[in-house]
Amino acid sequence: MEEIKQRLRQLKLSGAVKALEGRNEYALKNKVSYLDFLELVLEDEWVTRQNNAYHRRLLQSKLNEQKRLDNFDFTAQPELDKTIVMELSSCRFINQKQNIILMGNPGVGKTHLANGLGLEALKNGHTVQLIHANSLIDQLHRSKADGSYQKLLSKLSKLNLLILDEVGFKKFPQNGIDDFFEVIRQRYESGSIILTTNRKFEDWEQLFGDKVMASAIIDRLVHHAFIVKITGNSYRVKNMAMPEIT
Ligand code: ADP
Ligand code: MG
Repeated sequence: MEEIKQRLRQLKLSGAVKALEGRNEYALKNKVSYLDFLELVLEDEWVTRQNNAYHRRLLQSKLNEQKRLDNFDFTAQPELDKTIVMELSSCRFINQKQNIILMGNPGVGKTHLANGLGLEALKNGHTVQLIHANSLIDQLHRSKADGSYQKLLSKLSKLNLLILDEVGFKKFPQNGIDDFFEVIRQRYESGSIILTTNRKFEDWEQLFGDKVMASAIIDRLVHHAFIVKITGNSYRVKNMAMPEIT
């Protein structure tokens, strides 16, 4: 048994190593055929690989495992159409290189929903990254200093789904707008974006301080996009512990 395990390790079949003893006992007890035994061990290896790959992609994605669609309380946002969100969770929008814009006031659950959709995309085998918009601008700015700008842009453009969180929360610096445009331009019709924002499109000109750039960005974002407006109240405020009035 140890020799077989050693060989499996050399072949980098760690899932099969872990499964071997248990499957062997099971096979002896249940008179499992040689082929069925082999199939079971291979299946264990396959499942281990899938899990490892999922966890690797989860780590890289910066998604929060706790903010899922199954723990999003749709009753707290009665205006939000659950059917649309569930349709989006099929991830067809990613195969069709479409975007999703989640718009609404702070606290209505935009980041939670974007994260939940991101987790669904991961489960479907897609590569995903969630990044705060201002932190993206910072990273791009810093990457110019160490010469890794093109590499970072190319990494961002290769993702199946890029989640740009909190656009409009803080004004971008002038050179940041050009970088932001570059990211949007590279992904246009080639990869999906989920963008969350607390600002209406009418405010983007003022936000970016540049009318031409703002409309160039909006045009590309909305050309193939689902725009989901969340009009309800902040979930944070709703669930805030209120002092009792006596
Ligand atoms: P936004 O991005 O719109 O400002 P968040 O998604 O960050 O809001 O939501 C604020 C907090 O409230 C988060 O902890 C989030 O998980 C929670 N939350 C918001 N809406 C819901 C909801 N409908 N069901 C469950 N949790 C929610
Ligand atoms: Mg948010």
